[in-house]
Amino acid sequence: MNRIRFLSLALIIAGAISAGAQVQRVEPPNWWVGMNNPELQLMLVGEDLAGCTVKADGEGVRVTSSCSVENPTYLFVNLLIDEKCMPGEFRITLEKESEVYDSFLYELRERQPNAEKVEGFNSSDVVYLLMPDRFANGDPSNDIVKTMRETALNRSEPYGRHGGDLQGIIDHLDYISNMGFTALWLNPVLENDQPRSSYHGYAITDFYKVDPRFGTNEMYRELADQAREKGIKLIMDMVFNHCGSKHWWMENLPSSDWINYSDGYRVTNHRRTVNQDPYAAQTDIELMRDGWFVPSMPDLNQRNPFMATYLVQNSIWWIEYLGLAGIRMDTYPYPDKNMMDDWCRAVLSEYPDFNIVGEEWTTNPLTVSYWQKGQVNKDGYEPGLPTLMDFPLQDAVRKALTEEEGWNSGLIRMYDALSNDFIYPDPFNLMIFPDNHDMSRFYMQLGMQQDLYKMGITYFLTSRGIPQIYYGSEILMTHTEGDGHGYIRKDFPGGWTGDPTNAFTGENLSKDAAAMQDYFMNLLNWRKEKTVIHTGKTIHFTPQDGVYVYARYNDNETVMVVMNKNNREVKVETERYSEIIGKYRAGTDVITGKIIPLDESFRIPGKTALVLELNKGEK
Ligand code: CA
Repeated sequence: MNRIRFLSLALIIAGAISAGAQVQRVEPPNWWVGMNNPELQLMLVGEDLAGCTVKADGEGVRVTSSCSVENPTYLFVNLLIDEKCMPGEFRITLEKESEVYDSFLYELRERQPNAEKVEGFNSSDVVYLLMPDRFANGDPSNDIVKTMRETALNRSEPYGRHGGDLQGIIDHLDYISNMGFTALWLNPVLENDQPRSSYHGYAITDFYKVDPRFGTNEMYRELADQAREKGIKLIMDMVFNHCGSKHWWMENLPSSDWINYSDGYRVTNHRRTVNQDPYAAQTDIELMRDGWFVPSMPDLNQRNPFMATYLVQNSIWWIEYLGLAGIRMDTYPYPDKNMMDDWCRAVLSEYPDFNIVGEEWTTNPLTVSYWQKGQVNKDGYEPGLPTLMDFPLQDAVRKALTEEEGWNSGLIRMYDALSNDFIYPDPFNLMIFPDNHDMSRFYMQLGMQQDLYKMGITYFLTSRGIPQIYYGSEILMTHTEGDGHGYIRKDFPGGWTGDPTNAFTGENLSKDAAAMQDYFMNLLNWRKEKTVIHTGKTIHFTPQDGVYVYARYNDNETVMVVMNKNNREVKVETERYSEIIGKYRAGTDVITGKIIPLDESFRIPGKTALVLELNKGEK
């Protein structure tokens, strides 16, 4: 060791000892060189950090400013990383009153090749949504982690921890891929060190750490890598509206405005329409935005610029670390909407082909369309969110299939819902779904009628948009939301050693469940290659006598879907559908492979959706 280095090290140690202090936490834990945005803001946490001067000694890295906040335990350091900067570690030194407070190495990693060109999930994909605690237990050794607040493991308790984890998902990626899914959305897997009921993952207590009961950050990356190799795009569920009440910063907030209502919690009014309402009272807007989702989830204040930067960088860190293909943003209309907009733009400027889907749970398409990128809103709000969840369509399909046919009821609901597409800047960028982790299962919504269920599933897999299927839908998993959320998140059979039924292998699966699994697999794998379903145009005909006909078409192909909701077989006269059928003389049923002549009429059994690929050739 040369003399100068020895002296500086001695100085560092002496300084650190004399101040009795050191930096205890640095976030983000690392960054990358070559990002589009050269700026990086570090959050440093340590005793009495306020007022420290900060230096960086690395080629191409410099400190542009450091900012103390209300709480002296925090210091925010702004760095500029220019194009001269090479990957590696550089030293950050903090001094206070001419003495070294602390000094540490910070890593700037090399990016994966073409990291910025990642293709986000899109309408060529079908997304499988699963709840990690409830899908498969690949590692029983992490079921109970004694250092966590909630240590009980109880598979019979709907709100308890069941032991599912990332290893379990890795173990069954082949199942997901063979079924025909091409994207995977996991409910959040970041640390939820709450005293109870945090199995769902939405009460995050550390934004940079996977919950040890699910695995590690490295295992999450292993899942992302293996999924990518199998053609599955990974979508991360993120929450910017709130954190868990036991988040590490709750004991010692950077500032009183770090969270909203920090002096005494108030619950949000959940009146999301105040975001659009031209007549909304300011007090209602504020309570909607700043009130807490529930008492165990404090509301983050995205108007605090340090918080905003923290969240933006956190999302980019995970995209870069995992090589994500998408983000699902929880409770999209609850945070500050201008910050959310800035966030979308920041992410898309780093990754132009990335996709983000936001949750706005409303059956009103006007409200949904307000948030979609490209929408021109009267209040001047320019949304940045590419994709929204199509709750209006979900509601319409449920009603269409369960209501008696009438002028204003039954299939006309689906027809009308789709006709509302004129208000969306991009209907292909709507996530369409029969159900999710917060709803009664679609099968239950339809009164457990398998034929109607097949019709609905067929619709979602052939309509415009990005279909999302909730785990277990393919094997007719039951349970309704009325029993509580824990009950609609049952364990996937076969995910735990000793399960009497195994849906991965088909062992002991009921005949009905196995048949439905086959149906899903056939349709999903067929859809995978069908550009005409991914990006084709749509034409549909007003429903008549319980029959609804639509087609997806492009220059090369036409797929015609005929839905017969009647109990009985009907004869379909082809003349009315000549706009679709045109030059074609027959169609191939994509499920059975049977060729159906389309000359004058054809017959379709009761309660059936027939998917026909129209053939140019002779019949
Ligand atoms: Ca486990």
